[in-house]
Amino acid sequence: MVNLGSMPPIVLNQVGGQECAAADGRTFPKVDPATGQVLCEVARSSAADVRRAVGAALAAQPGWGATTVVKRGDVLRQIALLMRDHRTAIADLVARETGKSRKDALGETDAAIEMGFFVAGEGRRFYGRTTTSAVPNKSALVVRQPLGVAGLIIAANTPIANVAWKAFPALLCGNAAILKAAEDTPLSAWAFGVLAREAGVPDGVYATLHGFGEEAGAPLVEHPDVAVVSFTGSCEVGRWIAETAGRRLAKTCLELGGKNPLIVCDDADLENAVTWTLGSAFSNAGQRCAAGSRIIVFDAVYDAFRQMLVDATQKLKVGTGDGDDYGPVINEGQMQNMLASVERARAAGAVVLTGGHRLTGGAWGGGYFVAPTIVEHVGRTDEMTRTELFGPITSLYRVRDFEEAVALANDSPFGLTASIHTQSLHRAMAFVGRIQAGVAVVNGGTYGSEPHMPFGGLRQSGNGWREAGTEALDVYSDLKTVYINHNPRQV
Ligand code: NAD
Repeated sequence: MVNLGSMPPIVLNQVGGQECAAADGRTFPKVDPATGQVLCEVARSSAADVRRAVGAALAAQPGWGATTVVKRGDVLRQIALLMRDHRTAIADLVARETGKSRKDALGETDAAIEMGFFVAGEGRRFYGRTTTSAVPNKSALVVRQPLGVAGLIIAANTPIANVAWKAFPALLCGNAAILKAAEDTPLSAWAFGVLAREAGVPDGVYATLHGFGEEAGAPLVEHPDVAVVSFTGSCEVGRWIAETAGRRLAKTCLELGGKNPLIVCDDADLENAVTWTLGSAFSNAGQRCAAGSRIIVFDAVYDAFRQMLVDATQKLKVGTGDGDDYGPVINEGQMQNMLASVERARAAGAVVLTGGHRLTGGAWGGGYFVAPTIVEHVGRTDEMTRTELFGPITSLYRVRDFEEAVALANDSPFGLTASIHTQSLHRAMAFVGRIQAGVAVVNGGTYGSEPHMPFGGLRQSGNGWREAGTEALDVYSDLKTVYINHNPRQV
């Protein structure tokens, strides 16, 4: 039985079935966002480590790709079962590296496990297509084939879920996969690598590299033998990846940012709308691509809703305990960026209704805790309206009616998720039809995707692919059209 209970003092890479230091021996300190203190050292990978991992992956992929997909699903199920056996240990690592509560970390771990079971089950389906042909005695079918080596690069916000969302479908489709973990969350990625090996993933088929984006991520994107790059992170980096991988016509799946609207109509159940606004804006410290960061409220209920929301927000508890609503943001740089953005909005005339500052002292110590922040009187073309802050900060907008609400919701560089609160079926369905987003929710939050449902967005939220659901299989496989000619006279 593997032991995930004790955190490694140095989190190493996992390549070719071995734990190994970075090629040049360098490490970097991983800081605990709840305290600001160093938690552990982490291998600081470079192009040499990427070359080594790609070499091992190229050697191992043909064998893995030649096993039946049912067998690969069995191995992935074994990973999910091991994750279930070790769920509290994994959740402890997630809680340590992110500062989120153990309760939230367990919820995230369980979601990652569910993803494993869902994808493993696809090993018994993996549907292609059989169809007809214009030519007699010719059968036509479409099957999936692996791409080769998949480069997976993830963000730190929900680290074990982010690993699961990419690693399970990439492996099921018969690829070898190299995960570049987020520099802020090496521990859960390491734990997944340990369990993948224990579950029987052959050496070389799955590797974990740690390090910084430009040093370890970029060489993975640039490597000519990486057939697909699947990336979850910021638009800026996503754009660079699309350009770089695009030069050699490699496939890229980009899951990027959001500035997601939540509309509160004049016929909304305001208590329910407040509950979902709190969850959308502040859960996980607002570090969700699907966070609700533009709350668009009908004039008729604006004042009442604002009061209810501010009152409820001021009751939120920030800290690392299970009784707290959310924890720190992931690093000091992100915290400083989001607070500076609030200050710029304030200077431009916005009103900060609550929050807008760091929380320090007492149990918060030197951690990167940000008070839940609500801003109003923000211009519709201002930075606060158009830029993702990835923190516990949301803006309120007053609109006349449904038309103005939908127009404002759609007036965004992003198009990831959106929600409306209304009792009217007619409004709800008009919203579902007209909102320009990858996910539309009625009377709920802007977040909350499930493993069997496709997730992704329009415009700068991505490049058209969907993760999760059976749609994820389209990211990690290519199609092969097969014709079989036969001759009944030769029976
Ligand atoms: P980021 O783009 O800075 O980093 C994400 C990952 O990319 C990290 O592993 C980082 O090391 C790596 N990276 C950075 N530069 C790189 C480069 N030049 N080449 C290759 N890799 C590089 O993003 P972040 O700020 O850490 O994460 C937050 C972002 O992620 C937000 O925009 C959020 O909306 C987005 N996100 C999107 C989804 C989704 O499914 N759409 C889910 C979670 C987070």
